[in-house]
Amino acid sequence: MKKSANKVENNNSSGSKDSISRRHFIKNASATAAAGTAGLAGFGSMGCQKKLKTVKLRRTDMKVSKFLGDRMADRKLYELALASGVNYWHKFGHWADPAPYDRFRKLDRDSIFVDTTVGSLEKDKAIEIFERALEKTGFKMIDGFKIHSQYKSAEDIKTKMGAIQAFEQLKKQGKTRYLMMSQHVNTTEVFEAAIESEMFDVIQIPVNPTVPKDYFTKDKFPRKATQDEYLGLIKKASDKGIGITAMKVFLYGAKNWAEVPDLKERVSKYLPDNQSIATALIHWALNVPGVQAYGSMLYTFDELIENLEAVGGELTDDEDRGLKKFSEAMNDHYCRMCGACERANPGGVAVSDILRFSGYYTGFGESETAKAFYAELPKSKRVDAAKDLGHYEKACPYGLPLTKMLRKAHIQLT
Ligand code: SF4
Repeated sequence: MKKSANKVENNNSSGSKDSISRRHFIKNASATAAAGTAGLAGFGSMGCQKKLKTVKLRRTDMKVSKFLGDRMADRKLYELALASGVNYWHKFGHWADPAPYDRFRKLDRDSIFVDTTVGSLEKDKAIEIFERALEKTGFKMIDGFKIHSQYKSAEDIKTKMGAIQAFEQLKKQGKTRYLMMSQHVNTTEVFEAAIESEMFDVIQIPVNPTVPKDYFTKDKFPRKATQDEYLGLIKKASDKGIGITAMKVFLYGAKNWAEVPDLKERVSKYLPDNQSIATALIHWALNVPGVQAYGSMLYTFDELIENLEAVGGELTDDEDRGLKKFSEAMNDHYCRMCGACERANPGGVAVSDILRFSGYYTGFGESETAKAFYAELPKSKRVDAAKDLGHYEKACPYGLPLTKMLRKAHIQLT
């Protein structure tokens, strides 16, 4: 799908091609969004944009767009996304400014679905976090109570029930409906335990061609998982009626890819530019059996268009070949968040969190947010608390140059 800098080509339903200017798209989308919910519903039929595909998140009653909205860079992007049919919104109540909850309150409540993330396994704290999100948004009910990467092991899923009790209490009060989990630390083990527990209605996990290849293969931890097993777990979850959504699809995006000096050269035969890489990654994630939708923060109009256009497309052979090269190139640069280095150094540096914050800084340009996250870590978990980072590096099954990466992250984030 080739696009000039100022044109967007769309296949309309009859198969012919429409070419529209971005200005035209913005003008129409904004006007339609301003017209309210009826206008939003009508936008897809204006011939300016393909209708965004939707999917029912299995055991829930939520029929959601396959692209899930998250925090966006400016108010107009929210309007455009709404106008394009994005009807599910993640981390509601936790968005940094601009956070147009006033705009969302004007929508027909039945036309959108929202979740909010809960960063605690303690009952009272979890309730406090959720209630704060409710208050901030002005909503009476947030559909999804999403426990966000709080479990460190399968044992935690079985024994730490405070957040689950918080959900049950809030559900009884009519303030939420579905129990969700997002997980990006020790993902395979926790994900599997979460599936077995049957507690969760929707689970969000990282899905991209690098995760979790050869997971745990050099780890002393008895559980070893390959990519096939990981993808098999997604299938298993879907068979149990659990909605599965993807995150980390873009490995922090183009700015992060640019950190790998020869990446572009290695993939260029199949994926000649950033847009084709992004499109291939979306196709790859949505092509995994069981994955229903994916979410990402967006910063530009072009990114929004790329995402809307890629949803619903099939993974081509060239994209698949290109992503194999891409994965090889990213191999030494991307933390899979498997937790092996942290388990080998208990009580030490929060490696996977810090590298994630660094990804926000580099890939998304979210320097202030990334620094704030880093500042919130206990001193003992920060990079400068460790005398020798070599122990972490030795424990990483992917051979990441952790000493260099963590030192760089520390400088970025302080
Ligand atoms: S740095 Fe390596 S061992 Fe540590 S969490 Fe990331 S991928 Fe796993």
